[in-house]
Amino acid sequence: MNQAANVFIFIGPPGAGKGSLASLCVKRFGWLQISTGNLCRKHIAEQTKIGKEIDLIIKSGKLINDDLINCMVFEWFKENVQKASGIIFDGYPRTVAQAQAFENMLNTAFSHVRGRVILFDLSDDVVVDRLCSRYICQNIECQAVYSLAPHSGLTPATNVCDLCSGILGRRDDDAELAVRKRLEIYHRHEQQLIDFYRDNGTEIIKLDASKQLNEVFDSLVLNIIEK
Ligand code: AMP
Repeated sequence: MNQAANVFIFIGPPGAGKGSLASLCVKRFGWLQISTGNLCRKHIAEQTKIGKEIDLIIKSGKLINDDLINCMVFEWFKENVQKASGIIFDGYPRTVAQAQAFENMLNTAFSHVRGRVILFDLSDDVVVDRLCSRYICQNIECQAVYSLAPHSGLTPATNVCDLCSGILGRRDDDAELAVRKRLEIYHRHEQQLIDFYRDNGTEIIKLDASKQLNEVFDSLVLNIIEK
């Protein structure tokens, strides 16, 4: 098995298509993806101790405590780092404290791993529109993302999940109030994260996330894979 040599850190507002692009990369390249949001929702669905602790925070659109998220991620990373040549982080790190902790972990135990930041560029108005028409597979092992917007390229073939036939539903935190809160928090941290990665010399690739998924994928391939 290959030791993962490439870590792709997806940074972007909610609804920018990070999860959809990550899933496409997993399908095309056999990489792995970790979505901290999906991990959190799994804890909630399974009503674990952590799940009970974070349920209300997630519904309100606020961020989970850095230490808790770092623990989840480090545990997952150590278990999975050897399983693929590329690993995508979707929704992590979201704060400089998380970015610093992750960087320290890589430098200490995985210094051969190359990290790159993929920055999704999308206006708030488009985010709000997109999240209003977003549907998620309610099977917690799947959580595939769909959109009822006509030209999204993400419409389901029928009214259930294309992948597992799970029921499609809305996320509580896709309600407009929670979306506004999530956007406010995202913008509060975005520039600090970019500065952090720029200052430590990490390559940052900006993608126009207003395009259709296949076009965003093509520009990722052009910018990253063929380099
Ligand atoms: P997402 O699915 O990425 O939109 O995340 C949904 C929610 O999970 C966020 O609004 C946060 O409450 C929580 N969450 C996910 N990732 C993180 C993270 N890296 N740090 C803190 N909270 C997170």
